[in-house]
Amino acid sequence: MKKAALITFTSCFGCSFEFLNLRDNLLKVFEKLDFVDFKLVQERNVEGYDLVFIEGGISRKNEIPEIRGIRKRAKVLVALGACACNGCVMTLKNYRKDAEKQVYGKNFFGSLPVKGIDAYVKVDHYLRGCPFFRHELLSLVKSLLIGKKWKEKDYDVCMECRKRDNDCFLDGGEPCLGPISRAGCKAICPTNEYPCVGCRGLAEDRNLDRFLKVIREMMEKKDIKKKLEMYGLYDKIKVEEAWKKLK
Ligand code: SF4
Ligand code: SF4
Ligand code: SF4
Repeated sequence: MKKAALITFTSCFGCSFEFLNLRDNLLKVFEKLDFVDFKLVQERNVEGYDLVFIEGGISRKNEIPEIRGIRKRAKVLVALGACACNGCVMTLKNYRKDAEKQVYGKNFFGSLPVKGIDAYVKVDHYLRGCPFFRHELLSLVKSLLIGKKWKEKDYDVCMECRKRDNDCFLDGGEPCLGPISRAGCKAICPTNEYPCVGCRGLAEDRNLDRFLKVIREMMEKKDIKKKLEMYGLYDKIKVEEAWKKLK
């Protein structure tokens, strides 16, 4: 049986709980994988792992050698959830001076700007979203077990949204990040009448130029920036020509 682990860095533990929420499917996963290290289940000392899921981003110095050590001992390493993929909502602190001092006061201990784990180690697969999506996890595990190639979606959320015949927020003059966000969530937010906020990161196949022109008619540039900061998209977009040209 393959040795697996779910190891947690800076996060809310929501992805660990979401893993347990797999219910019947969880038993099927546990039948195939021996979870030697999973805080909510059990922890055993082993030399190496066939498969490691990492939950959480990197926000403290001590986490850097830790994640590098795990990478050395893992055959396959998966970033599980938005925190591990791109730092998630915790990256908000990267944009706010003194955020930590305001929250922790005198107990302020200092931390690094929050980053996804691929800032420090090579990631083999990404299971994006806050939390990750169960159907993607199951399809990845199945593919790995049978030695089949697994590829995440590279197109945007709008493609999935249109298939569901949802009314479009942008058509109604409401901002929605679907056109630049990576699909794979089956457009769960717009389907439930919430605009997309980009928790799955940027779609590779995106038209940023066109999206910014449309959304600029609804919002000031500073407010677009705030929207993009929520899930760390701003860091990637601010270097693109389309953003630099936006007035
Ligand atoms: S991705 Fe979301 S649910 Fe998962 S650990 Fe991070 S904040 Fe929690
Ligand atoms: S509602 Fe959002 S995700 Fe859906 S089609 Fe419109 S812009 Fe795209
Ligand atoms: S619709 Fe957008 S915010 Fe909602 S889960 Fe999908 S990518 Fe994340």
